[in-house]
Amino acid sequence: MRDSEVFASVQRELDRQRNNIELIASENFVSQQVMELAGSVLTNKYAEGYPGKRYYGGCQFVDEVETLAIERLKKLFHCEYANVQPHSGAQANTAVYFALLQPGDKVLGMSLNDGGHLTHGHPLNYSGMTYEFHAYGVDRESEMLDYEAFKKQVEEVKPKLVVAGASAYSRTIDFKTMAEIAHENGALFMVDMAHIAGLVAAGEHPSPFPYADVVTTTTHKTLRGPRGGVIMCNDEEMIKAINRAVFPGMQGGPLMHIIAAKAACFYEALQDDFKDYAKQIRKNAKALEESLKEEGFRLVAGGTDNHLLLIDVKASCGITGKKAQRLLDEVNITANKNAIPFDTEKPFKASGIRVGTPAMTTKGFKEEDFREVGKIIALRLKNDETDEIKNECLRRVKALTDKVTMYKDLSYED
Ligand code: PLP
Repeated sequence: MRDSEVFASVQRELDRQRNNIELIASENFVSQQVMELAGSVLTNKYAEGYPGKRYYGGCQFVDEVETLAIERLKKLFHCEYANVQPHSGAQANTAVYFALLQPGDKVLGMSLNDGGHLTHGHPLNYSGMTYEFHAYGVDRESEMLDYEAFKKQVEEVKPKLVVAGASAYSRTIDFKTMAEIAHENGALFMVDMAHIAGLVAAGEHPSPFPYADVVTTTTHKTLRGPRGGVIMCNDEEMIKAINRAVFPGMQGGPLMHIIAAKAACFYEALQDDFKDYAKQIRKNAKALEESLKEEGFRLVAGGTDNHLLLIDVKASCGITGKKAQRLLDEVNITANKNAIPFDTEKPFKASGIRVGTPAMTTKGFKEEDFREVGKIIALRLKNDETDEIKNECLRRVKALTDKVTMYKDLSYED
């Protein structure tokens, strides 16, 4: 019997994805083939182990799929070894720590308040509970990474591992400089490029290779694949340790349907039109930056080099990030509240919102659309909560979303 209750909820989510302006910087819309593979018969197959060395029979075809995923990923990011099995970005990071560190080892990661991720040492995360994490951050004035201060911290802390990468940092990260400092001080250098992987693949952000010892990423953000994680490196002994850490260390059977969808995502990212897509993501972020600045908003770090912007709504409109998120939600604009550097609000309220362009760029938005998005955000956040303002915002959002169609023939209705 068909589960009409769940399908009804999924249909409502499809409608939301069609009708909303999606500005969550870590989200995207996958292609029809990525979605088809993620929902394919490969979900039925157990394949513990790695291609050619499985603990189950009948793995010859999933071996082909996993090998395709590995080879394409290596080609995409110009590295020698890859593991495509981590179920998520958090799993990928955890596997690297498990492979390279002992409990209690010192690690230096980016401060969460300044844009780092939970798995870079939050006290309630496995990383922060298991290892001695120290944090580096941004300069108070420029709100950009302070490489001089970072160098001093590496020299003082003497970590075994340095972690670069962020969830809410709008500027280019200088992986070369960070790697040099880490290596001069005897530390391994890991880059978690989850947010910017699509930009790196297209040459729109400097690559962590050949500087990093190990690189992790999610596959579902700018890379536009299924939800999941991967790990890459150039050292044979290291990949052996990483493979052992993923399976049997941390996971059981790999999600072969997701690995198939990852393979298709890497195939798409290797095509020329993906370069155009990544370029457009950045052009759109610049257009949104200009539009928000014209409206008088204060942007953290003064603007963006990549796919996202952090808007200081407290300084700009006197409201918290939490309230800004709600006000935008009510006019079908989806964004998330976010702490800003040196935030005085608690994380659940926060002083900022984070907005990104990858998802709506996939839908076909161009610079003029993002300029209009900036104006709608200003109209909503800089005025009193009246029905008149709300209705005008809703009308202008609809005018924008009506121009683009996603998943045209898709339906989950009975
Ligand atoms: N690393 C970074 C930098 C991220 O931004 C994220 C997710 O937002 C992750 C890791 C974790 O990915 P996942 O949610 O797949 O565990």
